[in-house]
Amino acid sequence: MTLTLAEILMARGTIKGVADATPLVPATAISRILGTELLLKLEICQPIGAFKLRGAYNAVTSLPDGAIGVTCCSTGNHGRGVAFAARQRGLRAVVCMSELVPQAKIDGIRALGAEISITGKSQDAALAESLRLCRDEGLTEISPFDDPRVIAGQGTIGLEILEQRPDVGTLLVPLSGGGLAGGVALAAKAINPAIKVIGISMDRGAAMVASIKAGHPIEVKEYASLADSLGGGIGLQNKLSFQLCRDLLDDIILVTEEEIRDAMQMLFFEERIVAEGACVVGIAALKAGKLPPSTKPMATILTGRNLDMQIFTQIMTGQDITLGDMHLKGRQYTSPL
Ligand SMILES: *Cc1c(COP(=O)(O)O)cnc(C)c1O
Repeated sequence: MTLTLAEILMARGTIKGVADATPLVPATAISRILGTELLLKLEICQPIGAFKLRGAYNAVTSLPDGAIGVTCCSTGNHGRGVAFAARQRGLRAVVCMSELVPQAKIDGIRALGAEISITGKSQDAALAESLRLCRDEGLTEISPFDDPRVIAGQGTIGLEILEQRPDVGTLLVPLSGGGLAGGVALAAKAINPAIKVIGISMDRGAAMVASIKAGHPIEVKEYASLADSLGGGIGLQNKLSFQLCRDLLDDIILVTEEEIRDAMQMLFFEERIVAEGACVVGIAALKAGKLPPSTKPMATILTGRNLDMQIFTQIMTGQDITLGDMHLKGRQYTSPL
């Protein structure tokens, strides 16, 4: 499997008017507080509330005419993208998810007309079910991150950011299976080889960073996280996203659940933006002083807004939260401005 800028440019034509070009806006208050110019790519404005529509639509659109239906495993947002794209093409869609996926995400997928299958406690279990459906029912698997058409779709975000602000020096990209970071890094570095692309994951269960350290894809234990969209493995048979992230990312930074919570509060109270925990890992890393200082503007991708509003309300009102085996103490936000 190969992927070049040409496929990403083609993907842009395919998704035009469906997975729309999103705004890149200044995070004015956060930039003042952190003393560095930060821009936000608003993928929360996509029709499904997350960037995953780009890759899913590009992949589903390019299926041959004889396809009878699609299936995928998902932490929630890819399934929503696949459901949306399959409905447009009049195809059956089955979305396989683990028990860790929040109800709000499941409801959103069902509302788009897809069938739901909940299996086990990990993405790997959901993937196994999705592959079984391919074998037994003739459906086509659309990987959330390890498919060249999916990665090309996500890479269109990199094209847009560099067109919108060619002066950006560093991209902070939320990282899970690496389709987003791999595609964005490929596009951005093809246009500006000097740009830095940094992947950010939560510190519990970050499969890509563990795999890169090991030199090959490995499995890690999965934990409940505020960044639930970043959960899951990269697949032991990973073909493309592992290699792209290993070769193209300048660094990978890990953030704690406390840092994610604080960044969610900061984004909401300072910028009035509602976004998933997975989106704010870049802001969390900056705020925690985990990134090298930069004189050029930085941009991060607000990848999705499909969160559980009860947890969101608890975080914003300073209540304690339970995440699986972890107890996260509440904390009231006070603005330094
Ligand atoms: C899927 C997802 C990511 C991570 O994308 P990968 O391609 O798996 O690395 C980040 N944020 C949100 C909201 C997502 O749904």
